[in-house]
Amino acid sequence: MTQTTDYLAKLTEKLESKNPGQSEFLQAIHEFLPTIAPYLDKHPELIASNVLELLLEPERLIQFRIPWQDDNGNWQVNRGFRVQYNSAIGPYKGGMRFHPTVNESVMKFLSFEQIFKNSLTGLPIGGGKGGSDFDPKGKSDAEIMRFCQSLMTELQKYIGPSMDVPAGDIGVGGREIGYLFGQYKRLNGHQGGVLTGKPLTYWGSLARTEATGYGVVYFVKHLLQDKGDSFSEKRVMVSGSGNVAIYAIQKAQALGAKVISCSDSSGYLIDPDGIDVALLKEIKEVKRERLSAYIISKPTATYIPGESVWSYEGEYDIALPCATQNEINQELAKALVKSGVKIVAEGANMPSDLEAVVVYEENQIIYCPGKAANAGGVAVSALEMAQNSQRVPWTFEKVDNELNDIMKQIYETCRDTAARYAQKDDLLSGANIAGFAKVADAMVSQGLV
Ligand code: GLU
Repeated sequence: MTQTTDYLAKLTEKLESKNPGQSEFLQAIHEFLPTIAPYLDKHPELIASNVLELLLEPERLIQFRIPWQDDNGNWQVNRGFRVQYNSAIGPYKGGMRFHPTVNESVMKFLSFEQIFKNSLTGLPIGGGKGGSDFDPKGKSDAEIMRFCQSLMTELQKYIGPSMDVPAGDIGVGGREIGYLFGQYKRLNGHQGGVLTGKPLTYWGSLARTEATGYGVVYFVKHLLQDKGDSFSEKRVMVSGSGNVAIYAIQKAQALGAKVISCSDSSGYLIDPDGIDVALLKEIKEVKRERLSAYIISKPTATYIPGESVWSYEGEYDIALPCATQNEINQELAKALVKSGVKIVAEGANMPSDLEAVVVYEENQIIYCPGKAANAGGVAVSALEMAQNSQRVPWTFEKVDNELNDIMKQIYETCRDTAARYAQKDDLLSGANIAGFAKVADAMVSQGLV
């Protein structure tokens, strides 16, 4: 055993015994650690300083209760979290997720991934994440408001524009950010930079709503360009029908692709003519209906209930999983291979499990991990922070151009780092090494804090 493999094996074992049962968190660790081995081989001083073990431990994990009253006058209680994982390169930054699956393990995996994602953007933001096991499905607007106000009454003690800046994630969009912001303001005064993803009337950034979805497509655009190819005429499959999916579909179609699918938790939709984004937005954002409503307006499309979109057997070139973690397992990854997919680029965080990634590798599918491919959302959040500090809003075009440039730089960093330390097209290793190198260097230079 080399010094590196021995060190990583011991660290992995320690992490497993310190975090029993935290399957999502351990999955993220198991994916990350082996990929940085070639970098540690060349930097034995990082093993000597043990900076990695320090990095693997969250700086702070806050858990709190959230009491709120439903419309029938009954009191309910949910669990709230904020993980402030790493502040080496900037204030903690990351979304808030409202979903019944939220627990400590999910929060830790998401905030761990966020450290490297944020590092890759090249902007001064550290890694954090938060949320609640609250299920927004079927809740009235007034219930959402009371819940957000109660959550923020506690969370406001721990955040601030230079301390920790939450944003949206699954279940948290402009409406929720608005209620959270209003409550923060009542308690602390107007501080624009305390949350990002704000509505435009009080210092949200143009193009923030579109940023994650557009960013995934820009990442793939630069990858394709590098190989002398483009989105033109490509058949693309997308999962999810939230903010990320909607704008990924829109941008891919604007670049000449045909996007034939999207999905929700009840099933998936195939539209052979290409998804009608205006109709999708109307259903999901205006009427807040289930996706199956699409076929009422567009009877030539099909809705397949109870199945994963990745079990689809037709042919396509590019897969953009934009729903949630572990939506693609080994079996579904094999179905992707059969469909002729050449590129998988993740709009969601960790949508492919560890075995799925092995299937991609074995079949020469280019895998663009979420921490690189979906960094556009948080990157534009950092640009929103910049605009808030400047007290000057930027145009849509300026933000969109910056986003495109950032995604190009992330792609090139991953590509070049992979070529240097791992192998060509191993963008996962490239992303992990490049993301890690900067954070480790900052931690060492700050005196291992
Ligand atoms: N939730 C998004 C992510 O997973 C965005 C976070 C942010 O804008 O702070 O990166």
